[in-house]
Amino acid sequence: RLTVDDLIAWLMRFDEQITRQAERLTELDSAIGDADHGTNMARGTAAVRSRLSAARPDDAGALLKSCGMALVSTVGGASGSLYGTLFLEMARRVGAASELDRTVFAAAFRSGVAGVVARGRAELGDKTMVDALQPTVDVLDTAAADGVPLADALRSAADAAAAGRDATIPLVARKGRASYLGDRSADHLDPGATSAAILVQALADSLA
Ligand code: ADP
Ligand code: MG
Ligand code: MG
Repeated sequence: RLTVDDLIAWLMRFDEQITRQAERLTELDSAIGDADHGTNMARGTAAVRSRLSAARPDDAGALLKSCGMALVSTVGGASGSLYGTLFLEMARRVGAASELDRTVFAAAFRSGVAGVVARGRAELGDKTMVDALQPTVDVLDTAAADGVPLADALRSAADAAAAGRDATIPLVARKGRASYLGDRSADHLDPGATSAAILVQALADSLA
């Protein structure tokens, strides 16, 4: 089960990792975008951190909503509204629950990613954050159905997200700024898939 404190630990770790890797994320974005993904994300996760430090939300839905709102209003760019949607849709799915068991969490993450897909219209293989997020959804769903303990499921999910991230390297981008480059977008790691893999790894690490 994930408690409100577990979710806070996740988001604090996400901020820590994004801050640590911001320069690298921006470097990835400089190759196939406009060189701002790291600074965009770091601004956003810092805002999430200060919101959560200022007031501890009462339940999981309030927490995820607060995180989503902070990201939407501070990250900017394509990724701001997409990450915002991920968390706002998760919030909507969990409501006022104070703890999320593995089935509810898997369903919530699925809703969040469905929101990202509905908003950005990227499919698997379009070289976006969806390439790391969709495999995560699939692993969490299968693990929940098989009764795998959440900590183990999250470790597998983090591996799947990392594999999805790495699989973006040879792809030609079909969504976002990188798609303007056409074939020249190939042979580069996608920045958003990289930050999304960090998000899933942060969750696995925070429960380990
Ligand atoms: P911007 O491209 O506006 O500068 P960022 O650099 O912060 O925004 O984020 C770029 C990342 O956003 C890309 O690497 C990609 O993973 C993701 N992205 C862009 N467009 C889409 C989309 N339509 N659907 C899903 N993800 C997208
Ligand atoms: Mg950018
Ligand atoms: Mg930009």
